[in-house]
Amino acid sequence: MTPIEILKQYFGYDEFREGQEEILDTLIHGKDVLGIMPTGAGKSLCYQIPAMLLPGVTLVVSPLISLMRDQVQALTANGVPAAFINSSLTSSQWQRVMANARSGQYKIIYIAPERLLTPSMEELAQILQISLIAVDESHCISQLGQDFRPNYLDIPKYVDSLSVRPALGAFTATATPRVRDDILETLNLQNPLTLVTGFDRPNLYFEVKQPKDKYLALTKYLRENDSNGIVYCSTRKEVENVTEKLIADGYSAVRYHAGLSDGERSNSQDDFLYDRVKIVVATNAFGMGIDKSDVRFVIHYNMPQNVESYYQEAGRAGRDGLHADCLLFYARKDINTALFLINKSENPDEIIRNRQLLNQMERYCETDGCLRRYILNYFGEATEEDCSNCGNCNGNFEETDVTMDAKKVLSHITRLNRAGKHLMFTHTADILLGKSSDFTTLSTFGIMKGVPRGYIRRLISRLTALGYIHDDGYLSITPKANAILFGDEIVMIRGIKPKANEKAERTRKQAAKPRYALSEQLLTELKALRLNIAREEKVPAFIIFSDATLVDMCQKHPYTTEELMSVSGVGQVKLEHYGERFLQLLCQKERETAQKEKPPELTAELFEQQIEIVDDYLQISRVADNINAVLFRYGKPKTSGAKLNKMLVEAGFLEITDGVKLPTDKGKTIGITIVRRNSGRGEYMQCLFGSDAQRTCAQFVIKFLINKLV
Ligand SMILES: [Zn+2]
Repeated sequence: MTPIEILKQYFGYDEFREGQEEILDTLIHGKDVLGIMPTGAGKSLCYQIPAMLLPGVTLVVSPLISLMRDQVQALTANGVPAAFINSSLTSSQWQRVMANARSGQYKIIYIAPERLLTPSMEELAQILQISLIAVDESHCISQLGQDFRPNYLDIPKYVDSLSVRPALGAFTATATPRVRDDILETLNLQNPLTLVTGFDRPNLYFEVKQPKDKYLALTKYLRENDSNGIVYCSTRKEVENVTEKLIADGYSAVRYHAGLSDGERSNSQDDFLYDRVKIVVATNAFGMGIDKSDVRFVIHYNMPQNVESYYQEAGRAGRDGLHADCLLFYARKDINTALFLINKSENPDEIIRNRQLLNQMERYCETDGCLRRYILNYFGEATEEDCSNCGNCNGNFEETDVTMDAKKVLSHITRLNRAGKHLMFTHTADILLGKSSDFTTLSTFGIMKGVPRGYIRRLISRLTALGYIHDDGYLSITPKANAILFGDEIVMIRGIKPKANEKAERTRKQAAKPRYALSEQLLTELKALRLNIAREEKVPAFIIFSDATLVDMCQKHPYTTEELMSVSGVGQVKLEHYGERFLQLLCQKERETAQKEKPPELTAELFEQQIEIVDDYLQISRVADNINAVLFRYGKPKTSGAKLNKMLVEAGFLEITDGVKLPTDKGKTIGITIVRRNSGRGEYMQCLFGSDAQRTCAQFVIKFLINKLV
């Protein structure tokens, strides 16, 4: 029979796919092969067809028990005599398989690597001719990759022990050039045909999102796309949470992770395979060896630990060649989770390696460039062209100049590093925000007070992606940072408006700190509302909200859904169920209180106590923001950057030359300075205001207010 006849008769296909024929032809002629083929490209046929044409038996080394079982079932069903040898066999099953093998009944035997160097396999090698050894998932042999399996090192030993060396075929779906070279060397492939079939999957659409609320983003997608797909989470707990919420919200979903019983796992898998449910929420335990071609989306609810895993998992979408979505929901928190998992290892080299891989994954999430190009370049496929079919190619991002903030962050980390401190993100940000109990004397302590933490996160991620900061869990500065700190390099960040966010943060912060002393009256009314709801739903009251939650609600007194979310014990589900009614009550109380209480009068003294003067250079609008924060509290009309500028000009601190505001000598003495900025439209000069200048502005406002008041 010819390969094409076997293909038709045993496997039911009319023609070979890219690369298959070349590989199997090489193996049939007894030569080695390294086949790098993406998931779904049909690599198993590349060794199954030679196995049927070659004399004796073909061994297929695989690390995946489930895949072995599935493939042997499929082969047997197609009339190809095959078996597997791994730890899932009972002792009597194993004896039967070995007896059949010895009598030459199998053409293909799948074997786990740890079974190779056993006496029974040695014996088998003496009886049978082993014509071909196919090494599946061959990247597992590389200690440079993240899937290293020490038992894979037994493969070259086993090959050496054979009296006649069989042809070796190494196969992998994902291998970077470094890992590729390592496979060639460690397996000792002899003058092999190395064949890389294209990694690009043009029908897949890639996008990275940073949703504030991942669950809302997920359900939004599911509502807009009524199709079947996989939601990958990084932990079992997250799988449980997401599945529970989806089911409660009426979606057709099942869970899948290694902590479930075998029965439930195979039920979940079958329900998904047979379209009895639309969504499977799973850890990375799901998908190995599952061949469902019409998966329309793969959503990563958390960032995976490396690009290899990501592309492999995302690649389970759209294997039928039709359009499919691969979305990644990214949050800085995912990095901490990944680091936690990575740091569990007891092998320091492994930790370093995995952190490097994680950095590259993070860069994928942070890149502004074409996502497909990033992936292809990662796998060593050089491409310069943007794909026009990914979130970044299609996205329309607004870019903001964040150079000033970048300087603050970089000089902060420089100071810490100089003091011999390399801190994790959270601690670093706490100090910048002035929320830390240590490093209070550091000159950068609190210089980003009032800035949203999420913004600092994005900024640090961006600076890391651009190579100004090195982040292996602990932050350190790179030499490149000097270009920002001391040069005139500009940092732009996409899709972020720090100003707008600051306002949101301010409202949120006001909501977060006790706005009111605990009002017994309000608490009583909240409890009454809770009891009403509990009676309606026939559940105990604490199921609705705990007492602690009601107390916190009293103190924070939220009146938007966002603020309500900041109350401890209020999650998305409860917000949706009860938020409306509690907010209604809270807003009504707020109105009543506002009518009774008027804010105290603002005096110059109060103003001076409360104005925030920062030890850094601010734009005039930021100075105005700080002043307005106090004015707002006392119900006074706001000022603006333009008004402050006008006052500074009138008092001789600024002068306008050719329409450009510049500090006078008098202005320079109070710390007004100018910087050269570059916007998309060209260079311009901008005044920045140091602490003395900020104080001067505040004085103007006081004078103005007091004059008005007196
Ligand atoms: Zn693109």
